[in-house]
Amino acid sequence: MSAPASAPLPMLQALLGGPSMAQRRALAKAITLLESTRPDHRQQADALLNALLPHTGGAFRLGISGVPGVGKSTFIEALGLHLIGLGHRVAVLAVDPSSSVSGGSILGDKTRMEKLSVHPHAFIRPSPSGGTLGGVAAKTREAMLVCEAAGYDIVIVETVGVGQSETAVANMTDLFCVLQLPNAGDDLQAIKKGIMELADLIVINKADLDPDAATRAQAQITSALRLLGLHGRPETDCHDPTRWQPRVIQLSALHARGIETFWQAVDDYRRLQSAAGGLQARRQRQARAWMWERIEAGLREAFIRHPAVQARLPALTDDVLAGRMVASVAARQLLAVFGFGAALTDAAAAVQQAAIPSSA
Ligand code: GDP
Repeated sequence: MSAPASAPLPMLQALLGGPSMAQRRALAKAITLLESTRPDHRQQADALLNALLPHTGGAFRLGISGVPGVGKSTFIEALGLHLIGLGHRVAVLAVDPSSSVSGGSILGDKTRMEKLSVHPHAFIRPSPSGGTLGGVAAKTREAMLVCEAAGYDIVIVETVGVGQSETAVANMTDLFCVLQLPNAGDDLQAIKKGIMELADLIVINKADLDPDAATRAQAQITSALRLLGLHGRPETDCHDPTRWQPRVIQLSALHARGIETFWQAVDDYRRLQSAAGGLQARRQRQARAWMWERIEAGLREAFIRHPAVQARLPALTDDVLAGRMVASVAARQLLAVFGFGAALTDAAAAVQQAAIPSSA
């Protein structure tokens, strides 16, 4: 067996060595290492993550979503500069679902946040590209840990308001915020219920364009959230004062108006969650789910790459499609050639044994 890979020492030292140009370079290189698909790079990246682990977890992780054009990058630029003014160091990462399909990224692009991208206390990294959404999200999670170890105490993860990427980002952040346009209240149907359930904060951006519409949207979305709460919002008991009630805020990112109000709401959330132990519980749930998501992805990949599976899969798929074989039988045969046959039989026997009453 080969010796376990160790973390590249100069990179580790530079990352933990405090703010400097060397640290920025090390950070960029470390994230490139995490994103590499080469097995030896992956081993080094894992060793690096393990070495950095004691230095992670100190940042506040903020997820931001919204449809293209709603003003995400304008908002992140305004918020980021505001936070740097308060003495924070801000990292901006992205999960771009389009990047897993096209290989191109539309989020986290440095040119979108002109002032923030050149600020010495900010670090902006576009979405990793290629692979499945799960893979892209996993790399962003790991990048988040490296940023935290390097002392960035606010990590913003941006995504677009489509598909599963919002769930992925809500599942890796402490607070998930959805940006809406001032006319959002006119068509509440357009705001997906699932998103309302994920959001801890809803921001009506571009309030300057139509202040009346923004105020209307704020009231309508607030009452819609209340309704959802009354009808059993998951993990939220609306009568429990220690539980966070999602808030709706209006602002104008372009004119940097309402940013303090936004940050005040984030602070309120943090205080409430920290006091009730909610933040730690949320992170624990996320870590467990992340581990299982990666186990499932790894097993699936190993299965698909297995030579015996590759040899049998096309014919068995044809059999299933033609109605010559039951899908579950085909699946069992494939799992057996993968080497799971005995394990599955053992597991089934164990379940059966457990089901037999001891007096029998
Ligand atoms: P993203 O695609 O969600 O990142 O959106 P952008 O931040 O690129 O913004 C899209 C457009 O909306 C740009 O032209 C911005 O200048 C504009 N915009 C963003 N925020 C505001 C705002 O608060 N008010 C107004 N009037 N325009 C805004």
